[in-house]
Amino acid sequence: MPATVIVGAQWGDEGKGKIVDLLAEHSDVVCRYQGGPNAGHTIVRDGETFKLHHIPSGILYPGRVCVVGAGCVIDPGQLVREIDGLEERGIPTGDLRISGNAHLIMPWHVAIDAAGERRLGRLQIGTTRRGIGPAYADKAARIGIRVQDILDPKILRQKFETALAEKNLELERLHDHPPLEAEELADRMEEYADRLRPYVDDTSLLVDRALRDGKRVLLEGAQGTLLDLDHGTYPFVTSSNPIAGAATTGVGIGPTRIDRVLGVAKAYVTRVGEGPFPTEIEGPEHARVREIGAEFGTTTGRERRCGWLDLVALRFAVRVNGLTSLALTKLDVLSSFAEVPVCVRYRLEDGTETADFPAHQSDFHHCRPVFEPLPGWQREIGGELPAAAQEYVSFVEEALGVPVSLVGTGAAREHVLSLG
Ligand code: GDP
Repeated sequence: MPATVIVGAQWGDEGKGKIVDLLAEHSDVVCRYQGGPNAGHTIVRDGETFKLHHIPSGILYPGRVCVVGAGCVIDPGQLVREIDGLEERGIPTGDLRISGNAHLIMPWHVAIDAAGERRLGRLQIGTTRRGIGPAYADKAARIGIRVQDILDPKILRQKFETALAEKNLELERLHDHPPLEAEELADRMEEYADRLRPYVDDTSLLVDRALRDGKRVLLEGAQGTLLDLDHGTYPFVTSSNPIAGAATTGVGIGPTRIDRVLGVAKAYVTRVGEGPFPTEIEGPEHARVREIGAEFGTTTGRERRCGWLDLVALRFAVRVNGLTSLALTKLDVLSSFAEVPVCVRYRLEDGTETADFPAHQSDFHHCRPVFEPLPGWQREIGGELPAAAQEYVSFVEEALGVPVSLVGTGAAREHVLSLG
């Protein structure tokens, strides 16, 4: 099965990093298809911790070609720092390829992101303020600067200065922000361009050739399904499309090339920032799940809100991604609970109940979860699932009609059970 998409099935932070890392070991090409440096994977390898934001974790395996696809937005300074960090530790980056069609996050995007959130006040979306949203907005407005623009220093400087003149007006007039200094920023951009030029490639062609040669290609999405710009819980979403279909546009291959879609979901749910969250845990158990699960953001350190497993939302993820299997991570976090509730339906404001994710935002905002309490296993999960944990997994499989192929049983890399 050569082309596999791996996608977050909830609100991101599902523990994708570890699953991607496992699959990357058995892949030839690993691609990121959307998102920017807000996605952070922390990978611990032989006692060393690697924090990667742009570069697929496959880079840690020798000989894997790692692609940052056209659907991504790239902060050039951040990418150079990641490359340097790897090279300094003896990890070669020669097999990293960056799509010339990917867009660049410019200093004004970062400034506008922070200023915009400040202006929204209580209504803020809770962005990571890394300029990702504004970079995608400029891409859609067709005024973005792309990776291929760095290939010609003259074109780059021209585009940079033209865009900055415009953006400085926006910063000053709309956001009450001092203008950015053109000369110094353009010089810095030129330095980054010199460093990144060797990595720029036609990555659509590269992936197509790899698939024709029978190579195993892994397509990795960032964030998660419910943060999808079109199908997530708008406006509390990301500015790109994490869902599996976007792997084709984000990399530049057709939908018929995808063979498998693996969804990654926690055995419970977390959500960062604002927005409705039906299964959010009330009472002292909230802090317990957060502490045991170490639910604090990798990139931002922000506390995550925790909820019980939401099968209504997960059924939606199965639908919009066409999941062929599921990896259920962090099952061990639930091990000490006597009873583990799972949400099987939502009760809407008019009293009706639904097992399908509400299409209308207001229904979702006002729905209440209908829980089914499942018995806990109350012991550690070793090399085998305790009977009640197995029942929990079977319950999920039956409710979703999708097999659970992997179960996460601990933070370490080897703590994953393969269920055949
Ligand atoms: P990602 O961005 O989707 O990779 O998600 P996070 O950064 O939130 O998840 C990574 C964190 O969860 C890391 O600290 C992992 O070590 C931890 N983790 C992943 N899988 C498991 C698991 O099965 N059990 C436990 N206890 N921790 C896990």
